[in-house]
Amino acid sequence: MTEYKTEAQKKKFYRSGDWETLRQQALVRDNFECQWCKKEGKVTVDSIKEEGKRKDIVLNVDHKYGIENYPQLALVLNNLETLCVYHHNVKEGRVFGQTKKKKWDDEKW
Ligand SMILES: [Zn+2]
Repeated sequence: MTEYKTEAQKKKFYRSGDWETLRQQALVRDNFECQWCKKEGKVTVDSIKEEGKRKDIVLNVDHKYGIENYPQLALVLNNLETLCVYHHNVKEGRVFGQTKKKKWDDEKW
C-alpha cells in the first residue's frame, strides 16, 4: 500500500499522471463547479485564463477522505469533490478556528 504521510509522498502523488487523469474526471463530473457553492445555490467556476496573465486557480479537487489517513481512497473518483479555494480552506479548517466570530452568517437583517 502506497502511503501519503510525508510532504514528499504527497507531492509525488499530486504530480502523478494517475492523479491528473482522475482530477480531470472529477472536474468534468462536477461540471467545473464548486460543489459546496452549488449546495448554496451559487455557481463558482475557474476564471478564464487571460492572455499574458497567470490564471487564477479557483477550483481544487479535494479528497473527502484525506489521502494521509485513507491512502486506499486516493484514486477513487467517488472520494473526490470539486471545491473552490474558499470552501477548500473551510474544509481544511483554515478558516474556522482562526477566529471564533463567524463573518458571513451572523448579520441580522
Ligand atoms: Zn465554494
